[in-house]
Amino acid sequence: MVKAVLTDIEGTTTPISFVKDVLFPYSYEKIQDFVLKNKDNPQILKILEEVKKIEGKDLSLEEIIDTLKKWIEEDRKITPLKEIQGIIWEEGYKSGKLQGFVYPDAYEKLKEWFESGIKIYVYSSGSVKAQKLLFSNTNFGDLNYLFSGYFDTNIGNKKDPTSYKKIAQSIGLNPDEILFLSDNPDEITAAAHSGMKVVRLVRPKDADYIKEFPYTQVESFKQINLKML
Ligand SMILES: [Mg+2]
Repeated sequence: MVKAVLTDIEGTTTPISFVKDVLFPYSYEKIQDFVLKNKDNPQILKILEEVKKIEGKDLSLEEIIDTLKKWIEEDRKITPLKEIQGIIWEEGYKSGKLQGFVYPDAYEKLKEWFESGIKIYVYSSGSVKAQKLLFSNTNFGDLNYLFSGYFDTNIGNKKDPTSYKKIAQSIGLNPDEILFLSDNPDEITAAAHSGMKVVRLVRPKDADYIKEFPYTQVESFKQINLKML
């Protein structure tokens, strides 16, 4: 019997394009004002110094801002950029200017499970802090009340069955009492190998059905019935 649900975010509860279409443009648009306003804040100063170090030369404030914007356009996975974006997004969510998006079918079903006593957990490659922020201000309001816990890659890689065993242990259930939801076939396979029940989400804009995939695939949370698993 399924007693808990573990869900991915991007491609599952939220479109993959949310990061590319909402988060990145938001940080691009705000970064200049943000840096100018916070240039004397020691935490920000440290990040700006990091930018110079990576570029290997002294840069004016304008040049640092241009470098950060260029990195956003190039989608560089680089620590000072990640840090400054994280702070800009946090301000955005807290001020209500930035809103997370959750598919209506995901919201309805998560709420139904929550109300029937099923524990719900999140497992995403975004940091736990970023997960909580995304759910703090969504098209359905603050949804963090739905979740009993959050996991990120600190517990391990999402494509490694061991990570799912560790999560089950941390939740205090057997893997086969947990349903894992994700759009990523490798994550689904890893979770299934740990003993979890799995359903793959195939959001029409984000993914395609895989022929002869050995696990259940659905387009919407509406199609998931815990009693049938
Ligand atoms: Mg995903």
